[in-house]
Amino acid sequence: MMIVMKEGASADEIAHVVERVESVGCTAHISEGELLTVIGAIGEREDRVADLGLEGTPGVDQVVPIMKPYKLASRQFKDGADSVLEIGGRKVGGTNFALMAGPCTVENRDQMLDSADAVAAAGATMLRGGAYKPRTSPYSFQGLGREGLRLLDEARERTGLPIVTELLDLRDIDDVVEVADVIQIGARNMQNYALLSEAGKSGKAVLLKRGLSATIEELLMASEYILKEGNENVMLCERGIRTYETAYRFTLDLLAVPALKEQTHLPVIIDPSHAPGRRDWVESMSLAAAAAGADGIIIEVHNEPEKAICDAAQQVPTTEFQQLTDKLETITSVVGKTISRG
Ligand code: PEP
Ligand code: MN
Repeated sequence: MMIVMKEGASADEIAHVVERVESVGCTAHISEGELLTVIGAIGEREDRVADLGLEGTPGVDQVVPIMKPYKLASRQFKDGADSVLEIGGRKVGGTNFALMAGPCTVENRDQMLDSADAVAAAGATMLRGGAYKPRTSPYSFQGLGREGLRLLDEARERTGLPIVTELLDLRDIDDVVEVADVIQIGARNMQNYALLSEAGKSGKAVLLKRGLSATIEELLMASEYILKEGNENVMLCERGIRTYETAYRFTLDLLAVPALKEQTHLPVIIDPSHAPGRRDWVESMSLAAAAAGADGIIIEVHNEPEKAICDAAQQVPTTEFQQLTDKLETITSVVGKTISRG
């Protein structure tokens, strides 16, 4: 249920509505718009909010049901507006295009810092790199762990770029939270609800990747687990889904951009790297993502891709990244966005 307050409703009036909502066992999520404050009354017993007779309460304009199963993620909850997140001094969403770039995984100091320097020089928005890797084989490299986080921290110090890194396991949350500006929840963990709730509670921004076989609605429902903890800094990421097609690793579902943007106020990011699985197809998918209206991309870039420990075939060499960035500038300007920089 959504309680829309009148323009200029006082803090006391808002507090009173919050108290009434909580009195029937629901949680009140306050969203301050430019003109209006909206209170989302969320919980198992939302029906009881309808019975509170809040319509006549001072400061309340109207009480409207949220028709979708996802509530806080729904575009309706923000009165149709886009959320603009502020992460480490960079804006994500609205007219801002986030260019997140860096290696698949942190391998060693030279690799990480060289790659970080290059993506920073080309004007990336944030730096990516996994210290904990979800690998298909338990015998494959699993990431450098805490040493990887330490190197990411050094890369941030050096470049000033906010860090995007994956949280794979709840046991590592304290270490990851210490370094991450954005916690990445990988495709394989999209429905790990305990992990989502804890990421929500961490207060860090979260990049939630779509599961390999998840529907758009399941992705939105998963985001709700983060939002319900009071964490509004959530980005959704399409990274390719499983289909019958075997000509590439995954099918990049670019229609997820308009489909998600119709339903949610949250920024939508495309990962152009993991679906093609080969670097010569990454640039076209990056540009297509920008043309489709995505709010950013998260792309794998490596200083020596041929030597990369994982996802070697798809990582774009740092030497080619500037050129890709230049082309992205052109496409983003056509769709009315600007690459977000600090
Ligand atoms: C990654 O970003 O390196 C990664 C493992 O992504 P995904 O969870 O989408 O496979
Ligand atoms: Mn990867």
